[in-house]
Amino acid sequence: MREPAALEYARDLSRANTMALPCVAERFWCARDSAEVAVALRLANANDWPLSVLGGGSNLLLPAHLVGLVLVPELPDITFTSGEGESVVVEVGAGVGWHALVTACVERGLWGIENLALIPGLAGAAPIQNIGAYGVELSDVLLWVEFVDRRDGQCHRLTSASCALGYRDSVFKRELANQVVITRLALRLSRRASPQLGYGVLAERVSKRPELQEIFSAICAIRREKLPDPRELPNAGSFFKNPVVSASRAAQLAQRYPDLPCYPSSTARSSWPRVG
Ligand SMILES: Cc1cc2nc3c(=O)[nH]c(=O)nc-3n(C[C@H](O)[C@H](O)[C@H](O)COP(=O)(O)OP(=O)(O)OC[C@H]3O[C@@H](n4cnc5c(N)ncnc54)[C@H](O)[C@@H]3O)c2cc1C
Repeated sequence: MREPAALEYARDLSRANTMALPCVAERFWCARDSAEVAVALRLANANDWPLSVLGGGSNLLLPAHLVGLVLVPELPDITFTSGEGESVVVEVGAGVGWHALVTACVERGLWGIENLALIPGLAGAAPIQNIGAYGVELSDVLLWVEFVDRRDGQCHRLTSASCALGYRDSVFKRELANQVVITRLALRLSRRASPQLGYGVLAERVSKRPELQEIFSAICAIRREKLPDPRELPNAGSFFKNPVVSASRAAQLAQRYPDLPCYPSSTARSSWPRVG
């Protein structure tokens, strides 16, 4: 197979990861649609090149040299379709910045992902660890995920239920780890107000019946106080997971340490409270 013109060599990735680690990719390809992703995968398979998928580089540590092919699924589009009642289905390409997506939804008055403002990275990576913050997780709104499978080169769609989303966990970190390139996902958001204020200091930072924009701004302000902007100070964010314990264990701990923060876990894999 001939190498297509889109392929670049010796691409510097030091500005493509939030730790600003120096890294050079042997080969690099920004794919603009699913068909290009499939071509890139065929090329890597045919030549036995190791394949690395790169999003916004905010949840990985890059080595000095990445051999093989680094593929960025750059699909850039967002579409909004009215669903049943007050719901709106938002389809988003893997290459859309997550925060840009949240901003676009808040600007349209759509509730559901405002608590996930300012999470770095691209939309395509969001299902992999079921991103979450301030009491909301992607699993609360995810409808489906589309991907190209590295084994058959075909496009597939998984419903949210089949993605086995858990606390920073999904099928993409387990059975499908390193097997798929996510190209597109769909979320169900709503025009109806549904503020989620139960986590941390959020309720103290907004009015009694906050508007969507107010919550979005509060989340952005809280996050900016807590974590430096990786563009100014390279960092990996919080890289620990809160322990998930049984309800009885959480009750014991809360008795012993009355100030211990403790929240119910919202994801299906465990209904136990999370401590931390
Ligand atoms: C300052 C900071 C704050 C953060 N805060 C949060 C937070 O509040 N909540 C939270 O959940 N996370 C948080 N994170 C972690 C990170 O933002 C998320 O995990 C994000 O989803 C990673 O997206 P990315 O595009 O940067 O992925 P990358 O780092 O580029 O990739 C991560 C992994 O996913 C794979 N991957 C990426 N895109 C695709 C794709 N399209 N198809 C298949 N595989 C793919 C990569 O191969 C890699 O294994 C934070 C990180 C930082 C640096």
